[in-house]
Amino acid sequence: MIQDNYQTIRQKISQCAAGCNRAADSIHLVAVSKKKECALIQQAFDCGQRIFGENYLQEAAQKIPELPSSITWHFIGHLQSNKAKQAVSLFDVIETVDSLKLAKLIDKHANALSKSIAILLQINIGREPQKAGVLPEETESLLRRISSETKLQVRGLMVIPPFSNNPEETRLFFRETRKLAEDFARKQLFTDNQNVVLSMGMSADFHVAIEEGATHIRIGTALFGARDY
Ligand SMILES: *Cc1c(COP(=O)(O)O)cnc(C)c1O
Repeated sequence: MIQDNYQTIRQKISQCAAGCNRAADSIHLVAVSKKKECALIQQAFDCGQRIFGENYLQEAAQKIPELPSSITWHFIGHLQSNKAKQAVSLFDVIETVDSLKLAKLIDKHANALSKSIAILLQINIGREPQKAGVLPEETESLLRRISSETKLQVRGLMVIPPFSNNPEETRLFFRETRKLAEDFARKQLFTDNQNVVLSMGMSADFHVAIEEGATHIRIGTALFGARDY
């Protein structure tokens, strides 16, 4: 099942990329494996998948040591300050940084472990009161402060737009995110302004995200099947 799903997703990525004149290898698949057991993750690995995303630290701490060390792990859940140290020790990329305080803690622990950590800033692009993320208009100043006050590699932006059954509504949020990223890159605010990461798009809307410039799409259900909670 995983193998079929994996091939279907890779095919869709290639088709979408071709349809909007992008190179398929400029789009990276983050396989979201929360609530999925190691055997399934290993199956996806055996298909060639190398980037995985996890949301819950306790769960990740149990699974990551059991799985191949060549996996690149992205943390995509909400990170509490008191868990920053554990997140740094387990993950290569933390996609959900939304405050200077959190960035400084990640930086402190990364330095203590001599580990190079890449981060993305999570933007609350739909300005939803209950959602994590920095507000769009506050992102530039946060970016400037993180760059000047930490040694973190700030690679790009991550968003989870408001839920909608209509990908065309979601498209506008993806587009707004890309415009912000382009503006920040023009102002040289990222660590590498030629290769800015845009993590956006999930199982239901990744085709739209690719059209709007996503470099990383985060896919769980379409690869691993529905999650039971
Ligand atoms: C669970 C999750 C995903 C994957 O969602 P699917 O709809 O299962 O593809 C992507 N991003 C984040 C932040 C998630 O929490």
